[in-house]
Amino acid sequence: MSTWAVLVAAGRGERLGEDRPKAFVGLGELPLLAEPLRRLDECEWVDHLVVVAPAEWEEPVILLAEELGASKAGACVTGGETRTESVRLGVAEVPEDAAVILVHDAARPLLPAGLVKRLLEALGAGFDGAVPALPLADTVKRVRDGVVAETLDRDGLVAVQTPQAFLAPVLRRALERGEGTDCASLVEATGGRVTTVEGDARLLKVTTPADLELVASWLR
Ligand code: C5P
Repeated sequence: MSTWAVLVAAGRGERLGEDRPKAFVGLGELPLLAEPLRRLDECEWVDHLVVVAPAEWEEPVILLAEELGASKAGACVTGGETRTESVRLGVAEVPEDAAVILVHDAARPLLPAGLVKRLLEALGAGFDGAVPALPLADTVKRVRDGVVAETLDRDGLVAVQTPQAFLAPVLRRALERGEGTDCASLVEATGGRVTTVEGDARLLKVTTPADLELVASWLR
């Protein structure tokens, strides 16, 4: 029963306004990618790792993995135009006999090891997929053309993060179906049963320079 992690790092990260992909902006002394790569490599519940790299940054990804001594990082592939396409390309590197695939955004560097355990326990309890979720603190509204059209009932709504864990055959089937903002939405659309586990506020997705500064401050 092997668990593979696919670390998607091929996004451009234009909102950071840097001259390099998001995975290679600095976080402390190292590129941002180093943090999730090291954490997944050190995670006792992860057996192997595939890194999905930005085009023309494959070599620096391989060198970084070597520098970190990330021995589980067995494959590095070039990403695609969309996140889903990048996940597809990464999952294609996972051998057929893998039991579980964990998909994680490199843009969420501060992965706590205990979270991976919670996700795998949820799969062990019989679910097809498990995702970290946090309750919403704010009121959520749908806005059309600058006018509030609707205030959603917050009850039952959660914000979902990565890593997301799936039974490997279920994820592979779901990825044959179009695009989604996360993998769980594709699994849900193919009838898979996905549950939530407690997420972590520090798993913030780095999108803006302020996010990067906040994550860096948590590391200090
Ligand atoms: O763009 P977004 O913030 O949703 O990206 C989430 C994660 O997906 C990031 O880690 C990013 O590197 C990755 N991604 C990717 N390939 C793309 C777009 C995003 O690997 N084409």
